[in-house]
Amino acid sequence: MNYFRKSIHEMSGYVPGEQPALGTKIIKLNSNENPYPPSPKALNVLREIDGEMLRRYPDPTATSFRLAASEVLGVPSDWIIAGNGSDDLLNLIVRAVGEPGKQVVCPAPTYVLYRTLAEIQEADFVEVPYPDDYQLPVDLLIAAQGAVTFVAAPNSPSGTAISVADLETLAKGLSGLLVIDEAYVDFAEENALELTKKYNNVIVLRTLSKGYSLAGLRLGFGIANPQLLAELNKVKDSYNVDALAYAVAAAAIADRDYKTANAEKIKVSRSQLAVTLKQLNFEVWPSQTNFLLVRPPKGDAERIYQTLKMQRILIRYFKQPRLEDKLRITIGTEEQNQILVNTLREIL
Ligand SMILES: *Cc1c(COP(=O)(O)O)cnc(C)c1O
Repeated sequence: MNYFRKSIHEMSGYVPGEQPALGTKIIKLNSNENPYPPSPKALNVLREIDGEMLRRYPDPTATSFRLAASEVLGVPSDWIIAGNGSDDLLNLIVRAVGEPGKQVVCPAPTYVLYRTLAEIQEADFVEVPYPDDYQLPVDLLIAAQGAVTFVAAPNSPSGTAISVADLETLAKGLSGLLVIDEAYVDFAEENALELTKKYNNVIVLRTLSKGYSLAGLRLGFGIANPQLLAELNKVKDSYNVDALAYAVAAAAIADRDYKTANAEKIKVSRSQLAVTLKQLNFEVWPSQTNFLLVRPPKGDAERIYQTLKMQRILIRYFKQPRLEDKLRITIGTEEQNQILVNTLREIL
């Protein structure tokens, strides 16, 4: 007996990276979490939470967070929408746009959740292949004319940068929405925030999960013109962001120097790890994120993934076309990266 819609029964569902229990002795480099702790200022806010704040329903639009983000980004607060992680906002957008006969488009390989959300909505899902150098296939994306087009910029799992000039050409050429998912912007050289002012169809998504070390808190946000956000606000749960999340996130985003200092450390580690892996004959894609996509010398990615796992090091292996000979490795602390490299040397 199947109680559910045919499309739900038949889809496979998104599979997140493994999350071993806290306290498990493991080096976890599989979900692109930040290896450094959250801002001490954010943790102070958490310690001082008043019970009254939890007794009441939260502010439906997370105003305190939006004001803090507005200050940091130089964007008016009514151009910001908060979500229960940026995944919540991706979901909102697909629910607001997607239906049978409408096209959800993205370059691929990319973040797999875009497909899952489109399938739930029974929208048509169209993947435009990235070339091997991961330059954005702008003309093909424009030709596809999605009702909504998702571009992770920088991209995951390739880690590669997407040029703002290409995104601008895309924004101009699309009659539907363009969602620029900037989950990794804190480790990148460029961002596309300006495009939200120039083009009515552009939404930029950000998250505190990666750059701000707050993946467990669940706070993401979108930036777009207020007319566009008004439609998304109709679809969102009234209380999609809890009171703890927006209070802690407001303090975290205001502590910009702390975030930048950690991102700088990660960028240095990223370069060092890339050099070391190349010396071990790995192919390494140029990354503007907190992870590296690499191809081991013999392409035996699954074996290396399994062997590392037995030695309590978790990295990400995607068993799918174009990725089955590659591995995605989150940048850890210097010590974690060193252990990874030593273990890889033994395995090879
Ligand atoms: C991590 C990630 C997200 C999800 O971020 P949350 O705010 O934790 O939901 C979204 N998009 C991409 C490309 C990501 O890698």
